[in-house]
Amino acid sequence: MIETRQLQFAYGVGQPLVFPDVTVQQGAVLLLSGPSGSGKSTWLALLAALVKPQQGSMTVAGQDLTALAGRSADAWRACNIGFLPQKLHLSAALTVQHNLELAFWAAGLPADAQRVRQVLGQLGVAELARRLPSQLSGGQAQRVALARAVLMQPRLILADEPTASLDDAAAQDAVQLLVQAAQQHQATLVIATHDARVGQALASCMPVSPNLLHLGPAPREAASTTAAARVQV
Ligand code: ADP
Ligand code: MG
Repeated sequence: MIETRQLQFAYGVGQPLVFPDVTVQQGAVLLLSGPSGSGKSTWLALLAALVKPQQGSMTVAGQDLTALAGRSADAWRACNIGFLPQKLHLSAALTVQHNLELAFWAAGLPADAQRVRQVLGQLGVAELARRLPSQLSGGQAQRVALARAVLMQPRLILADEPTASLDDAAAQDAVQLLVQAAQQHQATLVIATHDARVGQALASCMPVSPNLLHLGPAPREAASTTAAARVQV
């Protein structure tokens, strides 16, 4: 579950980003849309306790994030958040297997090689375990990133522009994989994107409409009908 109230965040002395209040039930999907620069990545960073709001409160997976600081925030994040970043950061010298095992280290747990193999297998890429990051195609890297995001059975999966560099078929595939992975782990899923294909892909692979949060000016064609929350930044 995600609950935010009166959230504001400013970089340095800049204008604060003001975010609408959001309530998302555990296991549900939230589509976070808005143009580039509207604050999507910042909102994800707040949810992952990577940055602290100057104002407002947030509860994520039962944890009041304003009560977390420093190392306890790191430990909480490692166990509860599966982050699918815009760019996959893997250590170039390590195999996929060893890169994924690092997630256990970050959570203060012994590496579970079998769990890594299991998750790669579930995503249909078991054969990539021994490869180096430089030996992965774009689609393969996407699956490895998703494997890493779900490895610790997080309560919340945050995906930042997961379709950015993908063609139509791969974009549809990536969204479907995300939804499936979240369902499998009863995780809440947030997809931040300015790619209209994501909404279409969600509609085709989910029985219910996702929750919507739109940041920035309303999209022109839907301005009068959109039910999504909006924020001016
Ligand atoms: P989005 O993900 O929707 O493109 P961001 O959350 O990345 O938006 O950015 C929101 C606003 O905050 C933008 O105006 C951006 O320039 C600014 N911003 C983002 N990161 C930083 C940073 N590290 N320092 C200063 N300003 C930043
Ligand atoms: Mg962004």
